[in-house]
Amino acid sequence: MNLKLYSPLGDGGKLPDTGTTIFTIMSQLALEHNAINLGQGFPDFMMSEELISLVNTAMLQGHNQYAHMCGVPLLREKIAQKAKKLYDSNVNADAQITITPGGTYAIYTSLTSMLEKDDEVIVFEPAYDSYIPNILVNGAKPVLIPLQYPAYSIPWNEVHEKITAKTKAIIINSPHNPTGAVINEGDIEQLKSIVQQHKNIFIVSDEVYEHLVFDGLAHQSILRYPELMERSFVCFSFGKTYHCTGWKIGYCIASPLLMKEFRKVHQFNCFSVNSFVQYALADFLNNEDAYLSLGNFIQRKRDYFQNRMLATKFKPLPSHGSYFQCYSYKGFSDENDMELAIRLTKEYGVTAVPLSSFYQSGKDDNVLRFCFAKKEATLKEAADRLSKL
Ligand code: GLN
Repeated sequence: MNLKLYSPLGDGGKLPDTGTTIFTIMSQLALEHNAINLGQGFPDFMMSEELISLVNTAMLQGHNQYAHMCGVPLLREKIAQKAKKLYDSNVNADAQITITPGGTYAIYTSLTSMLEKDDEVIVFEPAYDSYIPNILVNGAKPVLIPLQYPAYSIPWNEVHEKITAKTKAIIINSPHNPTGAVINEGDIEQLKSIVQQHKNIFIVSDEVYEHLVFDGLAHQSILRYPELMERSFVCFSFGKTYHCTGWKIGYCIASPLLMKEFRKVHQFNCFSVNSFVQYALADFLNNEDAYLSLGNFIQRKRDYFQNRMLATKFKPLPSHGSYFQCYSYKGFSDENDMELAIRLTKEYGVTAVPLSSFYQSGKDDNVLRFCFAKKEATLKEAADRLSKL
């Protein structure tokens, strides 16, 4: 359907240049061709049955009506305790935490609660695909800065150069989707110096892969740094932590003043998140091992897949976190990354995501993103198929 013909908003609606998210496109293509889906990031293995039965119990106990607008108080309390334990962060559960229907929603709400027309937001590319439409729909302007290939590190000099009187926010994402890059203490120092110099800049920190950090590195959560925290929205996802992306539940932690604004938007959007899952999660958070063991568990999958991929012509780029690793196909195909991703799905039965879809300009470095949060048998079969290329 051509939206232009039907839009009551005139020429192309509010997001004239925004198409369908690449995750939906690639998952649909995988489905049509019965391909192994290493495109969209979701596990294909079973989540904790204990957590499932906690949800069942919560429903049977009668937790089936509206939850508190900000989230079930016990769950927020458990999250605050976890933030203290992991990051030595003093988070007030009443004033600073809101439970959301997923991390993506938390990011959208953070941006919407502060952005005004013509504000500028610094976004690093490749960028998770919701950020830029979230900025545009608020009438604000994304200011794009490319991460440095192949480590995808942040070029801080360029960040300093791109800051203007209109800069309202910087979006940080570590571990990074789509590349698996992880920020370090040096990056945090840079961020601190920016907010010291520019008192009007806020931070949206996408930390949905907080527990998926590899190689002995520490997750540099904004929660660790009070001077950053006072001007930040930090967004998390239970789906990534407990292998249940379809549950669509996460949360945002922000300074009390920012959280007040966040809740003004949230209360008239989804109002509150399903109650029974929140009770179950509050209970399950007592099991620290369930999230602390995650980094090693997923790292083994990265290593397994990387090892199997040695049999193919793809060259791995570094990944130190997240569900993802990028692989370069430079040198063995002239196709653009979308063409190759489509051909791999149709002819070899493996789906990946072309990295150009994370750039506004469609910049193509001949790289595909693979999700390795899968059973070993799935990863083995995918690599076997790709080795025939
Ligand atoms: N975060 C997931 C990914 O990067 C997808 C989320 C979605 O499909 N909206 O693959």
